[in-house]
Amino acid sequence: MNEEYENWGLATRAVRAGHRRTREGENSEPIFATSSFVFSSAAEAAARFSGEEPGNIYSRFTNPTVRTFEERLAALEGGQACVATASGMSAILATCMALLQSGDHIVSSRSVFGTTNVLFNKYLSRAGIETSYVPLNDLTSWEAAIRPNTRLLYLETPSNPLTEIADIRALADLAHSHKIKLVVDNCFCTPALQQPLQLGADIVIHSATKYLDGQGRCIGGAVVGDAKTVGEDVFGFLRTAGPTMSPFNAWVFLKGLETLNLRMKAHAENALRLAEWLEEQPLVERVHYPGLVSHPQHDLACTQQKAAGGIVSFEVKGGREAAWRLIDSTKMLSITANLGDAKSTITHPATTTHGRLTDDEKSQAGINEGLIRIAVGLEDIEDIQSDLLPGLESR
Ligand SMILES: *Cc1c(COP(=O)(O)O)cnc(C)c1O
Repeated sequence: MNEEYENWGLATRAVRAGHRRTREGENSEPIFATSSFVFSSAAEAAARFSGEEPGNIYSRFTNPTVRTFEERLAALEGGQACVATASGMSAILATCMALLQSGDHIVSSRSVFGTTNVLFNKYLSRAGIETSYVPLNDLTSWEAAIRPNTRLLYLETPSNPLTEIADIRALADLAHSHKIKLVVDNCFCTPALQQPLQLGADIVIHSATKYLDGQGRCIGGAVVGDAKTVGEDVFGFLRTAGPTMSPFNAWVFLKGLETLNLRMKAHAENALRLAEWLEEQPLVERVHYPGLVSHPQHDLACTQQKAAGGIVSFEVKGGREAAWRLIDSTKMLSITANLGDAKSTITHPATTTHGRLTDDEKSQAGINEGLIRIAVGLEDIEDIQSDLLPGLESR
C-alpha cells in the first residue's frame, strides 16, 4: 500500500486512494480507453520495456484506470500490491499459475465456490497439482492434510451458503509453521468487514463481480498481497497470459468501492434483521447467519469481522418441494445465484450452485433440499419480509 494512505481511515481510502489527477483537473477518475501508450523517444520506449523506467506500455498489464482500482483495493486490504483480473476465477487461476508447479499440493476448504472446485479438480490436476479438501472450521483436519509438497491453504470465510467461519489467524499460524501460504477469498465480507492480511493471511482473492461492484453490472477479480508474490509473480502471469480487467470495468468497480463501507453496513443490518425474523417463522427449521447468537461460531465472527455480512441461509420444513414453493411465491426478490447486489437474490443451493455435487457430497457439506440462500440487498427490510411471508405461511 502507498504510504500516503496509511493515515487515512477505510472510508477515505475507499473514496480517494489511487487517483492521480491529470492535467485536466478532473474530479472523477477518468477511463483510459486505450490499448497502448506512446513514448517520447525510442530510448524511453526501451527504458519502459526493460523496466528501468516505470510507466505505461500496453493495457494488457499497464492501464491507469485499472491501476487506480488496484491501488485503492490494496489500500483497503492493507496489502502492498494488487493485480486486477478479468474475473474472480481468473484471479484464482493467476494466483495458482504464478505460485505452483507440477507436483505441488493444495489443501482447500471443502466449502468453496463450486467453480473453484472445478478449477482445482479438473484443470490444475492436469498440470500435476493435487488438491485435498477439509472441513472449513476443523483445524486438526487442516493440519493432518498438510504434506511436504503442500504450497497453499485455500479458503473462503464465511462459507457459501452455510456461513461457517474459519479462524484466519489460527490457519495463518498453521500455514506459516509449515512455510505454506494462506490464501483467503474475501468475497463475502470485503475489506469493509474483514481484512484477512491483517489477520496473517498472505494473499486475498476477490470476485469484484460481487460486493465490490455492488450493483450487479460487471465481471472482475483481484489478487492482493505482498510486493514480491503479487506485485511480481502474479503480475508476471497476468502480463504474459492476459486475463486482464478492462478499464471500463475498473471504473465501475472504483465507483462501487466509493460506497463499499456504507453498503456493507446496510447489507449486514438488513441481513441481521431478516435472520432474526426468519428464526421466529414456524416453517423455518434453522437459520445460518454469523450475526445470530445461535450460530456456533458467533464469537469468532465477532472478533474477526466488523459485521456478519449480507448472506443468510435457512432450512424450511418439507424439503425441496417446500423450498421451491417459497422461492416461487416471491414477487420482488430476484431468483438468481448472483450475490452482492443492491437487489436481494434468492436461490436453492442444492439444485443450482451446488447441483453438481453428489448426494453424498451434499450431505457432507450440509446442503440439504430444504436449504434456501438469500443474498440480502438494500431494499427496505419490511418489503423483503413481506415478499417472503406468503410462502412462509402457505403449507
Ligand atoms: C463469484 C465467486 C467467485 C468467482 O468469481 P467470478 O467473478 O464469477 O469469476 C469466486 N469466489 C467466490 C466466493 C464467489 O462468490
